[in-house]
Amino acid sequence: MQHKILIIEDEENIARVLQLEMEFEGYETDVAHTGTSGLIKYREGKFDLILLDLMLPEMHGLDVLKRIRATEQTTPVILLTAKSEVEDKVKGLDLGANDYVTKPFEIDELLARIRNTIRFSKQREKIAEQKDEHLLSYGHLSIHEHTREVVYFEKTIDLTPREYDLLLFLLKHPKQVLTREQILEAVWGFDYFGDTNVVDVYIRYIRQKLNSSNSTPIIQTVRGVGYVLKESPHET
Ligand code: CA
Repeated sequence: MQHKILIIEDEENIARVLQLEMEFEGYETDVAHTGTSGLIKYREGKFDLILLDLMLPEMHGLDVLKRIRATEQTTPVILLTAKSEVEDKVKGLDLGANDYVTKPFEIDELLARIRNTIRFSKQREKIAEQKDEHLLSYGHLSIHEHTREVVYFEKTIDLTPREYDLLLFLLKHPKQVLTREQILEAVWGFDYFGDTNVVDVYIRYIRQKLNSSNSTPIIQTVRGVGYVLKESPHET
C-alpha cells in the first residue's frame, strides 16, 4: 500500500526536493507552503505522516501541531527544525510530535526516520484494532479475549479458566436462554461424561464472584431450562 505524506514547508525549493525524494521512494505526497494551508490540507486528506517545518508564514508550525493533536493523536508528525530552534523542538516533542530532523538534513536520514515512524505507527494501529476486535461486552460486563480480563461494574473479576470459559460462552449469547446441555457441550466439550449439575455448580461460583449489590444478577436461572445472561429480570 502506498503511504501518503503531507509536506508543510514554506521554502519552495526545499519543499520541491522533499517532494521529489519522497515520490522517488514510492510515497504519495501533498505540499503546503503556509501553516494555514497545511492545516486545511491535513483536514481534507488522509495522511500516513506529516513533515512539518516550524518557521512558517501565517501560522507557526507548533500551532499547526497543537491543532492537529487537539483532534487526534495518531497521525505521526516529524518536525523539520533549524539548529537554532532547540526550544521549539522540545516544545514540539512535548506537544506530541513523533520525531524531528535538524536542517540541513541528510535526505537518507530523513527517509530512514520516515520509514521507522510510519512502521511504528502502523504497528500501533494494528494493536489498537486487535484490542477492539477482542473486546466483548454486554450491559456492565465486558471480557477482553486477548488479555482474558473480565470487568463487571468497573471491577476486575478473577475467574478460574473454567469459570472464564463459561462466562465467555454466556457473553457470546446475551439474552439467549441456554440449556445446561448446550453450556456443557460448549464449555466442557462432547467428551464430558459427568452430570449437568456441574453447570449449576460453576454458575454459582461465577455469581458469587460477580456479586454486585447494585443490580439484578446478570446470570439468571430459567426454571426447568437453563440460564440466560440478561440485565433486566427474565420473565418466566
Ligand atoms: Ca521555514
